[in-house]
Amino acid sequence: MPQPGPATVRSRVRIPLTFPDGYRAEAEATTFHGLEDGAEHLALAFGTVAEGATPLVRLHSECLTGDVFGSDRCDCGPQLREAVERIAEAGGYLLYLRQEGRGIGLYNKLDAYALQSA
Ligand SMILES: [Zn+2]
Repeated sequence: MPQPGPATVRSRVRIPLTFPDGYRAEAEATTFHGLEDGAEHLALAFGTVAEGATPLVRLHSECLTGDVFGSDRCDCGPQLREAVERIAEAGGYLLYLRQEGRGIGLYNKLDAYALQSA
């Protein structure tokens, strides 16, 4: 099996964000070529890292129901919101990993919710 090459930057774009509570931040989203699993993961940069400081980094697993729709089944949405503010203050990166349901997929996650509700 061939070894994957190193991932390279595909594009960078600035995205102003407004959260439902009115909090605003500006992200610089980076997209990549050559990520090992072929998924469209994102690196979102916020704020400015002070010289000599270590950037704050959060690995956030995609959660459509929590991040977008505010599901009360999990606290992903509030975690994402808090992470953005803390990173924007200190400077750093939110790595948004496209692995819905920690990799099981959206439909399977919803099926698991249905089983839990039964
Ligand atoms: Zn979630």
